[in-house]
Amino acid sequence: MVGAGYAGMAAAVTLVQRGAHAVVFESGPVPGGRARRVVTQGQTLDNGQHILIGAYATLFGLMRAVGVPANAVLRMPLELRYADGVALRRLFLPAPFGLLGGLLLARRLPWGEKLGAVRFMLALRRLGFRLAEDCSVSALLARFHQEGRIGRYVWQPICISALNTPPALASANVFLAALRDTLAGDAEASDLILPRVDLSRLFPEPAADWLRARGAEVRYGATVRDVGALRSEFGAVILAVGPHQLRPLLPDHAPEFEYQPITTCYLQYDAKTRLPLPMLGLAGGLVQWVFDRGRLTGEKGRLAAVISAQGDHQQMTQEELARTCHRELAAALKDLPEPQWTRVIAEKRATIAVPPGLRRPAIETPLSGVFLAGDYTDPEYPPTLEAAARSGVRAAARALDFA
Ligand SMILES: Cc1cc2nc3c(=O)[nH]c(=O)nc-3n(C[C@H](O)[C@H](O)[C@H](O)COP(=O)(O)OP(=O)(O)OC[C@H]3O[C@@H](n4cnc5c(N)ncnc54)[C@H](O)[C@@H]3O)c2cc1C
Repeated sequence: MVGAGYAGMAAAVTLVQRGAHAVVFESGPVPGGRARRVVTQGQTLDNGQHILIGAYATLFGLMRAVGVPANAVLRMPLELRYADGVALRRLFLPAPFGLLGGLLLARRLPWGEKLGAVRFMLALRRLGFRLAEDCSVSALLARFHQEGRIGRYVWQPICISALNTPPALASANVFLAALRDTLAGDAEASDLILPRVDLSRLFPEPAADWLRARGAEVRYGATVRDVGALRSEFGAVILAVGPHQLRPLLPDHAPEFEYQPITTCYLQYDAKTRLPLPMLGLAGGLVQWVFDRGRLTGEKGRLAAVISAQGDHQQMTQEELARTCHRELAAALKDLPEPQWTRVIAEKRATIAVPPGLRRPAIETPLSGVFLAGDYTDPEYPPTLEAAARSGVRAAARALDFA
């Protein structure tokens, strides 16, 4: 196994569950890859705030299998609540009534738009949440008249959060797959789930402990350079590295992608500072969502402001970004003091971009016995933790068939 991100650890756990031996090589000092704990300027933080949803069935199954306790996450019924009062809450009713009722009861959205959104969801159900010909999410929203406030507060934020790609550039079919599995699924599938421990402790570290207890090896600070040598030693190799990290390993076969960034700005305020909820939306500025780390991980007074996907903010310095995030938070929250410190973590290649018609690589590579895993390989899902976990399980199954 090359890579101890969520995909690599999912693959290693699956191999060991099925009676095989696994050795994991990881370049970094901690597991987790793009979802990991980092220490920056004396502060221990996540490399970016993450949100999970109830539909992440594969990942939650693996977390349970390696003994992650249920209180490692906070589970909340879907609620999109904005600092300016707009709110949408899924009702606790069977699908599709939970969402449709929630849309109708949404606060501070015009009635005509709410009814239009219900018609939109019903039309998508009739289409089986798939278009014969893929187009951009913006084109889809225009076709179904979903561009007003409902677009701005509901569909566009969901697109940016789930696909990490601006609606004008994002694939409608991948967006629809995410809607199908979350909003249009069972009530629990749309639950918002927020980590209460750091991202390495959420799954990869307990997975490493579980693996070692069963005789598998996990080696940190171990960069693989020669796939052929590894294959000769172990028989089968799963490359669970980020898509941009494939080139040195498979120089002639690495797929080409465009990438999208995610920026997280941590702002440490006085310990008494709290949000009214663990997660709050902001509209109209740079910050899309702000999270109360005090409520989640016990880091009192610490807010994490998230800016997903590309934008003009990429031209700003870290100081400008932190100042802008603070200004936007101060405009939305009453009596916010000055922050004691701020840290900006910009992941330039947080995920691949997901344009219409995107083709994903096969799990098999042209090298016999060498397989791919990673969030970018899922045939229909956005590049997320769940896509990473699913890909690991799939790649492990192929490697076992091959061995
Ligand atoms: C800031 C940010 C916010 C995000 N927010 C969310 C979110 O809210 N919800 C969500 O579901 N997803 C989110 N994502 C996406 C999610 O983090 C990724 O989809 C997932 O972590 C990808 O896992 P992976 O295992 O496929 O790849 P990676 O995490 O990239 O793992 C690859 C691993 O391989 C290692 N490696 C690379 N080359 C070598 C080599 N030659 N030898 C040994 N090791 C090597 C790397 O060090 C790394 O640990 C976010 C991502 C970022 C960056």
